[in-house]
Amino acid sequence: SQNNEQLMQRRNAAVPRGVGQIHPIFVDRAENATVWDVEGREFIDFAGGIAVLNTGHLHPKIIAAVEAQLKKVTHTCFQVLAYEPYVELCEKINAKVPGDFAKKTLLVTTGAEAVENAVKVARAATGREGVIAFTGGYHGRTMATLALTGKKVPYSAGMGLMPGPVFRAQYPCELHGVSEDDAMASIARIFKNDAEPCDIAAIILEPVQGEGGFYVASPSFFKRLRALCDEHGIMLIADEVQTGAGRTGTFFAMEQMGVAPDLTTFAKSIAGGFPVSGVCGKAEIMDAIAPGGLGGTYAGSPIACAAALAVMDVFEEENLLARSQAVGERLTNAFKAIQSKHKAIGDVRGLGAMVAVELFEGGDVHKPDAALTGKIVARARDKGLILLSCGTYGNVLRILVPLTASDELLDRGMAIIAECFAELA
Ligand code: PMP
Repeated sequence: SQNNEQLMQRRNAAVPRGVGQIHPIFVDRAENATVWDVEGREFIDFAGGIAVLNTGHLHPKIIAAVEAQLKKVTHTCFQVLAYEPYVELCEKINAKVPGDFAKKTLLVTTGAEAVENAVKVARAATGREGVIAFTGGYHGRTMATLALTGKKVPYSAGMGLMPGPVFRAQYPCELHGVSEDDAMASIARIFKNDAEPCDIAAIILEPVQGEGGFYVASPSFFKRLRALCDEHGIMLIADEVQTGAGRTGTFFAMEQMGVAPDLTTFAKSIAGGFPVSGVCGKAEIMDAIAPGGLGGTYAGSPIACAAALAVMDVFEEENLLARSQAVGERLTNAFKAIQSKHKAIGDVRGLGAMVAVELFEGGDVHKPDAALTGKIVARARDKGLILLSCGTYGNVLRILVPLTASDELLDRGMAIIAECFAELA
Protein backbone atom coordinates (compact mmCIF):
# COMPACT_ATOMS: atom_id res chain seq x y z
CA SER A 1 0.00 0.00 0.00
CA GLN A 2 1.10 3.58 -0.64
CA ASN A 3 2.48 6.01 1.94
CA ASN A 4 1.23 9.54 2.71
CA GLU A 5 3.63 11.19 0.27
CA GLN A 6 2.65 8.95 -2.63
CA LEU A 7 -1.04 9.40 -1.90
CA MET A 8 -0.61 13.18 -1.63
CA GLN A 9 0.98 13.18 -5.09
CA ARG A 10 -1.96 11.26 -6.53
CA ARG A 11 -4.39 13.53 -4.70
CA ASN A 12 -2.74 16.68 -5.99
CA ALA A 13 -2.89 15.37 -9.55
CA ALA A 14 -6.50 14.21 -9.34
CA VAL A 15 -8.24 16.70 -6.99
CA PRO A 16 -8.49 20.49 -7.53
CA ARG A 17 -6.31 22.64 -5.28
CA GLY A 18 -9.44 24.50 -4.14
CA VAL A 19 -10.17 21.51 -1.91
CA GLY A 20 -7.72 22.44 0.81
CA GLN A 21 -6.12 19.98 3.18
CA ILE A 22 -4.83 20.97 6.59
CA HIS A 23 -2.74 17.88 7.31
CA PRO A 24 -0.84 15.95 4.56
CA ILE A 25 -2.05 12.67 6.00
CA PHE A 26 -4.21 9.84 4.70
CA VAL A 27 -6.17 8.07 7.38
CA ASP A 28 -6.58 4.32 7.41
CA ARG A 29 -8.81 3.75 10.43
CA ALA A 30 -10.15 5.44 13.54
CA GLU A 31 -11.63 4.69 16.94
CA ASN A 32 -13.22 7.19 19.33
CA ALA A 33 -10.68 10.04 19.53
CA THR A 34 -7.74 8.26 17.91
CA VAL A 35 -6.88 7.90 14.21
CA TRP A 36 -4.21 5.80 12.47
CA ASP A 37 -2.70 6.86 9.16
CA VAL A 38 -1.77 4.64 6.21
CA GLU A 39 1.77 4.35 7.60
CA GLY A 40 0.46 2.97 10.89
CA ARG A 41 1.15 6.14 12.87
CA GLU A 42 -1.28 6.97 15.68
CA PHE A 43 -2.74 10.46 16.26
CA ILE A 44 -4.97 12.00 18.91
CA ASP A 45 -7.91 13.61 17.12
CA PHE A 46 -8.76 17.08 18.48
CA ALA A 47 -10.47 18.02 15.18
CA GLY A 48 -13.35 15.54 15.17
CA GLY A 49 -13.86 15.92 11.42
CA ILE A 50 -14.65 19.62 12.07
CA ALA A 51 -17.23 19.26 14.83
CA VAL A 52 -18.85 16.10 13.46
CA LEU A 53 -17.64 13.54 16.00
CA ASN A 54 -18.96 14.65 19.39
CA THR A 55 -19.72 10.94 19.96
CA GLY A 56 -16.30 9.87 18.63
CA HIS A 57 -15.23 7.76 15.65
CA LEU A 58 -17.17 4.52 15.11
CA HIS A 59 -19.17 4.62 18.31
CA PRO A 60 -20.31 0.97 18.68
CA LYS A 61 -23.99 1.90 19.30
CA ILE A 62 -24.09 4.15 16.26
CA ILE A 63 -22.37 1.59 14.05
CA ALA A 64 -24.80 -1.09 15.25
CA ALA A 65 -27.79 1.13 14.42
CA VAL A 66 -26.38 1.85 10.95
CA GLU A 67 -25.65 -1.85 10.33
CA ALA A 68 -29.21 -2.75 11.30
CA GLN A 69 -30.60 -0.10 8.94
CA LEU A 70 -28.25 -1.25 6.14
CA LYS A 71 -29.95 -4.63 6.22
CA LYS A 72 -33.46 -3.13 5.91
CA VAL A 73 -33.43 -0.28 3.39
CA THR A 74 -30.81 2.30 2.40
CA HIS A 75 -32.77 4.54 0.07
CA THR A 76 -36.26 5.21 -1.22
CA CYS A 77 -36.26 9.03 -1.33
CA PHE A 78 -38.53 10.22 1.50
CA GLN A 79 -40.72 12.13 -0.97
CA VAL A 80 -41.47 8.85 -2.79
CA LEU A 81 -41.79 6.29 0.01
CA ALA A 82 -41.42 7.47 3.57
CA TYR A 83 -39.75 5.63 6.47
CA GLU A 84 -40.19 5.93 10.22
CA PRO A 85 -36.61 6.90 11.26
CA TYR A 86 -37.00 10.24 9.41
CA VAL A 87 -40.22 11.06 11.30
CA GLU A 88 -38.83 9.86 14.63
CA LEU A 89 -35.74 12.04 14.23
CA CYS A 90 -37.90 15.08 13.43
CA GLU A 91 -40.05 14.41 16.51
CA LYS A 92 -36.96 14.20 18.71
CA ILE A 93 -35.45 17.37 17.25
CA ASN A 94 -38.77 19.22 17.67
CA ALA A 95 -38.70 18.29 21.36
CA LYS A 96 -35.06 19.36 21.85
CA VAL A 97 -34.91 22.70 20.01
CA PRO A 98 -35.72 25.54 22.43
CA GLY A 99 -39.08 27.30 22.07
CA ASP A 100 -42.42 26.82 23.79
CA PHE A 101 -44.43 26.32 20.60
CA ALA A 102 -45.33 23.62 18.09
CA LYS A 103 -42.39 22.81 15.80
CA LYS A 104 -41.72 20.98 12.56
CA THR A 105 -38.41 19.79 11.13
CA LEU A 106 -37.11 19.38 7.58
CA LEU A 107 -34.18 17.02 6.95
CA VAL A 108 -31.60 17.60 4.23
CA THR A 109 -27.98 16.49 3.88
CA THR A 110 -25.34 19.17 4.55
CA GLY A 111 -25.01 22.23 6.76
CA ALA A 112 -25.05 24.58 3.79
CA GLU A 113 -28.21 22.96 2.48
CA ALA A 114 -29.86 23.41 5.88
CA VAL A 115 -28.98 27.13 5.86
CA GLU A 116 -30.22 27.52 2.27
CA ASN A 117 -33.53 25.98 3.25
CA ALA A 118 -33.87 28.06 6.42
CA VAL A 119 -33.54 31.18 4.27
CA LYS A 120 -36.06 29.83 1.75
CA VAL A 121 -38.56 29.17 4.56
CA ALA A 122 -37.98 32.65 6.05
CA ARG A 123 -38.49 34.24 2.63
CA ALA A 124 -41.71 32.31 2.01
CA ALA A 125 -43.05 32.97 5.51
CA THR A 126 -42.42 36.73 5.36
CA GLY A 127 -42.78 37.48 1.67
CA ARG A 128 -39.46 39.36 1.97
CA GLU A 129 -36.03 38.72 0.44
CA GLY A 130 -33.33 40.48 2.48
CA VAL A 131 -31.16 38.69 5.02
CA ILE A 132 -28.89 40.21 7.65
CA ALA A 133 -25.77 38.17 8.42
CA PHE A 134 -22.70 38.98 10.50
CA THR A 135 -19.01 39.77 10.15
CA GLY A 136 -16.97 36.61 10.54
CA GLY A 137 -20.03 34.36 10.26
CA TYR A 138 -19.70 31.07 8.37
CA HIS A 139 -22.70 29.40 6.79
CA GLY A 140 -21.40 27.22 3.95
CA ARG A 141 -19.95 26.97 0.47
CA THR A 142 -23.02 27.10 -1.78
CA MET A 143 -23.71 30.39 -3.55
CA ALA A 144 -26.36 31.70 -1.17
CA THR A 145 -24.50 30.57 1.95
CA LEU A 146 -21.29 32.15 0.64
CA ALA A 147 -23.23 35.40 0.39
CA LEU A 148 -24.09 35.01 4.10
CA THR A 149 -20.54 34.00 5.07
CA GLY A 150 -18.61 36.99 6.37
CA LYS A 151 -15.17 36.14 5.00
CA LYS A 152 -14.24 36.46 1.31
CA VAL A 153 -10.76 34.85 1.29
CA PRO A 154 -10.59 31.92 0.79
CA TYR A 155 -14.26 30.94 0.68
CA SER A 156 -15.53 32.99 -2.26
CA ALA A 157 -12.38 34.73 -3.50
CA GLY A 158 -12.08 34.79 -7.29
CA MET A 159 -15.74 33.87 -7.75
CA GLY A 160 -17.18 37.36 -7.98
CA LEU A 161 -20.11 38.67 -5.99
CA MET A 162 -22.48 36.17 -4.45
CA PRO A 163 -26.28 36.42 -4.75
CA GLY A 164 -27.99 38.88 -2.46
CA PRO A 165 -29.68 40.67 -1.00
CA VAL A 166 -27.47 40.12 2.06
CA PHE A 167 -26.58 42.89 4.49
CA ARG A 168 -23.66 42.65 6.87
CA ALA A 169 -24.00 43.54 10.55
CA GLN A 170 -21.17 43.47 13.08
CA TYR A 171 -20.90 40.40 15.32
CA PRO A 172 -20.31 41.57 18.89
CA CYS A 173 -16.75 40.88 20.01
CA GLU A 174 -15.41 42.91 22.91
CA LEU A 175 -11.89 41.57 22.39
CA HIS A 176 -11.74 43.29 19.00
CA GLY A 177 -13.60 46.41 20.05
CA VAL A 178 -17.15 45.61 18.91
CA SER A 179 -19.62 46.02 21.77
CA GLU A 180 -23.20 44.75 21.73
CA ASP A 181 -24.30 48.37 21.32
CA ASP A 182 -22.03 48.63 18.26
CA ALA A 183 -23.52 45.43 16.84
CA MET A 184 -27.09 46.69 17.34
CA ALA A 185 -26.10 50.06 15.86
CA SER A 186 -24.77 48.27 12.76
CA ILE A 187 -28.24 46.79 12.22
CA ALA A 188 -29.86 50.17 12.76
CA ARG A 189 -27.45 51.50 10.11
CA ILE A 190 -28.57 48.82 7.64
CA PHE A 191 -32.19 49.85 8.27
CA LYS A 192 -31.27 53.51 7.66
CA ASN A 193 -28.92 53.10 4.69
CA ASP A 194 -29.68 49.90 2.84
CA ALA A 195 -32.97 48.15 3.51
CA GLU A 196 -36.10 48.85 5.49
CA PRO A 197 -37.07 46.33 8.17
CA CYS A 198 -40.00 45.33 5.93
CA ASP A 199 -37.43 44.22 3.31
CA ILE A 200 -35.70 41.82 5.73
CA ALA A 201 -36.87 38.21 5.95
CA ALA A 202 -34.30 36.99 8.48
CA ILE A 203 -31.37 37.73 10.73
CA ILE A 204 -29.02 34.74 10.80
CA LEU A 205 -26.16 34.12 13.19
CA GLU A 206 -24.23 31.43 15.03
CA PRO A 207 -24.68 31.50 18.84
CA VAL A 208 -20.94 30.81 18.97
CA GLN A 209 -19.07 31.58 15.75
CA GLY A 210 -17.31 28.42 14.57
CA GLU A 211 -15.03 29.08 11.61
CA GLY A 212 -15.07 32.76 12.62
CA GLY A 213 -13.10 32.11 15.81
CA PHE A 214 -15.24 30.68 18.63
CA TYR A 215 -16.60 34.09 19.68
CA VAL A 216 -19.59 33.58 21.98
CA ALA A 217 -22.69 35.76 21.65
CA SER A 218 -24.45 36.58 24.91
CA PRO A 219 -28.01 36.10 26.17
CA SER A 220 -28.36 39.89 26.37
CA PHE A 221 -27.46 40.25 22.69
CA PHE A 222 -29.92 37.55 21.71
CA LYS A 223 -32.61 39.24 23.81
CA ARG A 224 -32.09 42.45 21.84
CA LEU A 225 -32.14 40.58 18.50
CA ARG A 226 -35.29 38.73 19.51
CA ALA A 227 -37.03 42.01 20.42
CA LEU A 228 -35.93 43.61 17.15
CA CYS A 229 -37.16 40.64 15.12
CA ASP A 230 -40.49 40.62 16.98
CA GLU A 231 -40.92 44.35 16.40
CA HIS A 232 -40.43 44.04 12.66
CA GLY A 233 -41.73 40.55 11.85
CA ILE A 234 -38.24 39.29 11.00
CA MET A 235 -37.30 35.61 11.41
CA LEU A 236 -34.41 34.94 13.79
CA ILE A 237 -32.33 32.03 12.48
CA ALA A 238 -29.81 30.33 14.80
CA ASP A 239 -27.21 28.45 12.76
CA GLU A 240 -26.33 25.61 15.13
CA VAL A 241 -24.51 23.49 12.56
CA GLN A 242 -21.27 23.67 14.59
CA THR A 243 -22.64 24.52 18.06
CA GLY A 244 -25.40 21.89 18.07
CA ALA A 245 -25.52 18.26 19.14
CA GLY A 246 -24.10 18.92 22.57
CA ARG A 247 -20.85 20.72 21.77
CA THR A 248 -21.56 23.69 24.03
CA GLY A 249 -22.81 21.78 27.09
CA THR A 250 -26.50 21.86 26.15
CA PHE A 251 -27.90 19.97 23.18
CA PHE A 252 -28.41 23.28 21.37
CA ALA A 253 -26.43 26.37 22.33
CA MET A 254 -29.60 28.48 22.13
CA GLU A 255 -30.79 26.75 25.32
CA GLN A 256 -28.28 29.01 27.06
CA MET A 257 -29.27 32.22 25.30
CA GLY A 258 -32.61 32.83 27.00
CA VAL A 259 -34.68 33.29 23.84
CA ALA A 260 -35.97 30.93 21.15
CA PRO A 261 -35.09 31.43 17.49
CA ASP A 262 -37.82 31.05 14.86
CA LEU A 263 -35.63 28.67 12.86
CA THR A 264 -32.66 26.51 13.83
CA THR A 265 -30.22 24.79 11.48
CA PHE A 266 -28.30 21.69 12.56
CA ALA A 267 -25.91 19.18 10.93
CA LYS A 268 -22.42 17.81 11.68
CA SER A 269 -22.39 15.93 15.05
CA ILE A 270 -26.14 15.27 14.92
CA ALA A 271 -25.43 11.98 13.12
CA GLY A 272 -21.92 11.15 14.34
CA GLY A 273 -20.23 11.02 10.93
CA PHE A 274 -23.16 10.30 8.62
CA PRO A 275 -24.53 13.06 6.41
CA VAL A 276 -27.81 14.52 7.60
CA SER A 277 -28.79 18.08 8.44
CA GLY A 278 -31.97 19.99 8.91
CA VAL A 279 -34.07 22.99 9.80
CA CYS A 280 -36.38 23.06 12.82
CA GLY A 281 -38.81 25.89 13.36
CA LYS A 282 -42.22 27.11 14.39
CA ALA A 283 -44.74 24.79 12.76
CA GLU A 284 -46.68 27.51 10.92
CA ILE A 285 -43.45 29.06 9.62
CA MET A 286 -42.10 25.70 8.45
CA ASP A 287 -45.41 25.13 6.63
CA ALA A 288 -45.07 28.36 4.63
CA ILE A 289 -43.66 26.48 1.62
CA ALA A 290 -46.12 24.44 -0.46
CA PRO A 291 -45.68 20.68 -1.12
CA GLY A 292 -42.76 20.05 -3.48
CA GLY A 293 -40.84 23.17 -2.38
CA LEU A 294 -38.66 21.32 0.11
CA GLY A 295 -36.68 18.09 -0.06
CA GLY A 296 -33.93 16.38 -2.01
CA THR A 297 -33.11 12.94 -3.38
CA TYR A 298 -30.90 11.93 -0.46
CA ALA A 299 -32.42 14.34 2.09
CA GLY A 300 -32.87 12.57 5.41
CA SER A 301 -31.25 9.30 4.27
CA PRO A 302 -32.46 6.31 6.32
CA ILE A 303 -28.85 5.41 7.17
CA ALA A 304 -28.09 8.88 8.51
CA CYS A 305 -31.43 9.05 10.38
CA ALA A 306 -30.64 5.74 12.09
CA ALA A 307 -27.23 7.13 13.05
CA ALA A 308 -28.74 10.37 14.40
CA LEU A 309 -31.28 8.49 16.53
CA ALA A 310 -28.42 6.44 17.98
CA VAL A 311 -26.43 9.64 18.64
CA MET A 312 -29.33 10.92 20.75
CA ASP A 313 -29.47 7.65 22.69
CA VAL A 314 -25.72 7.78 23.31
CA PHE A 315 -26.06 11.34 24.66
CA GLU A 316 -28.62 10.10 27.19
CA GLU A 317 -26.90 6.85 28.12
CA GLU A 318 -23.44 8.36 28.51
CA ASN A 319 -24.60 11.65 29.98
CA LEU A 320 -22.65 13.52 27.32
CA LEU A 321 -24.08 16.97 28.07
CA ALA A 322 -22.52 16.89 31.54
CA ARG A 323 -19.41 15.47 29.93
CA SER A 324 -19.36 18.39 27.46
CA GLN A 325 -19.22 20.82 30.41
CA ALA A 326 -16.49 18.78 32.09
CA VAL A 327 -14.41 18.54 28.90
CA GLY A 328 -14.78 22.29 28.46
CA GLU A 329 -13.54 22.97 31.98
CA ARG A 330 -10.60 20.61 31.61
CA LEU A 331 -9.49 22.13 28.31
CA THR A 332 -10.00 25.68 29.57
CA ASN A 333 -7.95 25.04 32.71
CA ALA A 334 -5.16 23.48 30.66
CA PHE A 335 -5.15 26.46 28.27
CA LYS A 336 -5.13 28.92 31.19
CA ALA A 337 -2.07 27.17 32.59
CA ILE A 338 -0.32 27.54 29.21
CA GLN A 339 -1.49 31.15 28.95
CA SER A 340 0.13 31.95 32.32
CA LYS A 341 3.50 31.12 30.73
CA HIS A 342 3.00 32.54 27.24
CA LYS A 343 2.01 36.10 26.37
CA ALA A 344 1.05 34.98 22.85
CA ILE A 345 -2.25 33.63 24.18
CA GLY A 346 -4.35 36.76 24.38
CA ASP A 347 -7.64 35.05 25.10
CA VAL A 348 -9.02 31.71 26.30
CA ARG A 349 -12.73 31.38 25.57
CA GLY A 350 -15.60 29.14 24.64
CA LEU A 351 -18.91 27.64 25.66
CA GLY A 352 -19.02 24.09 27.03
CA ALA A 353 -16.53 21.97 25.11
CA MET A 354 -16.27 24.50 22.28
CA VAL A 355 -12.96 25.93 23.47
CA ALA A 356 -10.35 28.07 21.72
CA VAL A 357 -7.36 30.33 22.30
CA GLU A 358 -6.47 33.38 20.24
CA LEU A 359 -2.82 34.14 19.51
CA PHE A 360 -1.21 37.57 19.17
CA GLU A 361 2.36 38.79 18.72
CA GLY A 362 3.44 39.70 22.24
CA GLY A 363 -0.17 39.55 23.38
CA ASP A 364 -1.08 42.70 21.38
CA VAL A 365 -4.69 42.25 20.17
CA HIS A 366 -3.89 44.40 17.14
CA LYS A 367 -1.31 41.86 15.96
CA PRO A 368 -3.03 38.53 15.25
CA ASP A 369 -0.38 35.81 14.97
CA ALA A 370 -1.50 33.46 12.20
CA ALA A 371 2.11 32.37 11.60
CA LEU A 372 2.57 31.06 15.14
CA THR A 373 -0.87 29.44 15.00
CA GLY A 374 0.09 27.59 11.81
CA LYS A 375 3.42 26.51 13.31
CA ILE A 376 1.71 25.11 16.39
CA VAL A 377 -0.81 23.16 14.29
CA ALA A 378 2.07 21.65 12.24
CA ARG A 379 4.32 20.92 15.26
CA ALA A 380 1.42 19.33 17.16
CA ARG A 381 0.83 17.02 14.20
CA ASP A 382 4.50 16.02 14.21
CA LYS A 383 4.01 15.12 17.86
CA GLY A 384 0.88 13.07 17.16
CA LEU A 385 -1.97 15.53 17.73
CA ILE A 386 -4.46 16.64 15.06
CA LEU A 387 -5.48 20.27 15.65
CA LEU A 388 -7.49 22.87 13.74
CA SER A 389 -7.16 26.62 13.52
CA CYS A 390 -9.89 29.12 12.66
CA GLY A 391 -10.73 32.82 12.93
CA THR A 392 -11.03 35.82 10.66
CA TYR A 393 -7.25 36.26 10.96
CA GLY A 394 -6.39 32.54 11.15
CA ASN A 395 -4.93 33.07 14.62
CA VAL A 396 -7.24 30.90 16.71
CA LEU A 397 -6.57 27.35 17.89
CA ARG A 398 -9.85 25.51 18.44
CA ILE A 399 -10.64 22.18 20.03
CA LEU A 400 -13.41 19.92 18.73
CA VAL A 401 -12.33 16.68 20.41
CA PRO A 402 -14.95 13.93 20.82
CA LEU A 403 -16.83 14.29 24.11
CA THR A 404 -16.31 10.55 24.55
CA ALA A 405 -12.51 11.00 24.82
CA SER A 406 -11.02 9.99 28.17
CA ASP A 407 -9.52 12.54 30.56
CA GLU A 408 -6.20 10.79 30.06
CA LEU A 409 -6.34 11.38 26.29
CA LEU A 410 -7.42 15.02 26.75
CA ASP A 411 -4.46 15.56 29.09
CA ARG A 412 -2.05 13.94 26.62
CA GLY A 413 -3.32 16.21 23.85
CA MET A 414 -3.07 19.33 26.00
CA ALA A 415 0.45 18.32 27.09
CA ILE A 416 1.45 18.26 23.42
CA ILE A 417 -0.02 21.74 22.94
CA ALA A 418 1.93 22.96 26.00
CA GLU A 419 5.13 21.50 24.52
CA CYS A 420 4.45 23.25 21.20
CA PHE A 421 4.08 26.61 22.97
CA ALA A 422 7.26 25.98 24.95
CA GLU A 423 9.17 25.25 21.74
CA LEU A 424 7.67 27.86 19.42
CA ALA A 425 6.09 30.78 21.31
N1 PMP B 1 -22.90 26.63 9.25
C1 PMP B 1 -21.94 26.53 10.18
C2 PMP B 1 -22.08 27.29 11.46
C3 PMP B 1 -20.81 25.72 9.95
O1 PMP B 1 -19.84 25.63 10.88
C4 PMP B 1 -20.72 24.99 8.74
C5 PMP B 1 -19.54 24.07 8.43
N2 PMP B 1 -18.33 24.41 8.99
C6 PMP B 1 -21.75 25.12 7.81
C7 PMP B 1 -22.83 25.93 8.10
C8 PMP B 1 -21.73 24.37 6.50
O2 PMP B 1 -21.88 23.01 6.71
P1 PMP B 1 -21.49 21.96 5.55
O3 PMP B 1 -20.00 22.05 5.40
O4 PMP B 1 -21.98 20.65 6.06
O5 PMP B 1 -22.21 22.40 4.32
